[in-house]
Amino acid sequence: MPPALRARVLAMVTRLIGVLLVPIALCRAPGRARFVACQWALGLRFPAEDLRGLATEALAAFTHARAEAFWRDGQLIGLTSGYRDATEQARMFAAEVRRTGSVAAARRRVLPPRESGHVRGIAVDVRPREGARWLERHGGRYGLYRVYDNEWWHFEYRVVEPVRLPHPAAAAGPPRAVPPCAAPPTGGAGGPRAMSRSRRTAS
Ligand SMILES: [Zn+2]
Repeated sequence: MPPALRARVLAMVTRLIGVLLVPIALCRAPGRARFVACQWALGLRFPAEDLRGLATEALAAFTHARAEAFWRDGQLIGLTSGYRDATEQARMFAAEVRRTGSVAAARRRVLPPRESGHVRGIAVDVRPREGARWLERHGGRYGLYRVYDNEWWHFEYRVVEPVRLPHPAAAAGPPRAVPPCAAPPTGGAGGPRAMSRSRRTAS
């Protein structure tokens, strides 16, 4: 089955499951049945997603936004990557420095732990692309904003709408020392344009 058709069929099945789960959710969480049923259905559609560790406000914003997407517009939104601990973020940053050959180039895709919204629990990487489009259009009502031009999947919970930046490195981060082992900045000579799935979940 072509991927696009497969995605459409899966989305239809997920919506149907959501509807079927409403009566059960009604027993478990009266008053929030549709919200709960939708999270269950999305959990089945995106079994690898892990919402643990997100800041309370970010978690509430994300789950309520995707419930609206699900019930009002039939749009599914799954979480690719949410909270990361500092060790994991540092490992990803180091891997990106190795891949690109410079700290400056790495920072266009992955931020060090001190600057990453993922480590603070306020960043969510979402899928599929249509879900990200929905969130870009409507997420502001929940305080969820796309913050980088080069990462369609990356959203952050903010109290005030942020100015969208071209890429993570464009943010004025805290002063940092460049590790002595790092190669000098290459001025954006960057890596390949095509991104692997793991690299999509970067900043
Ligand atoms: Zn991200």
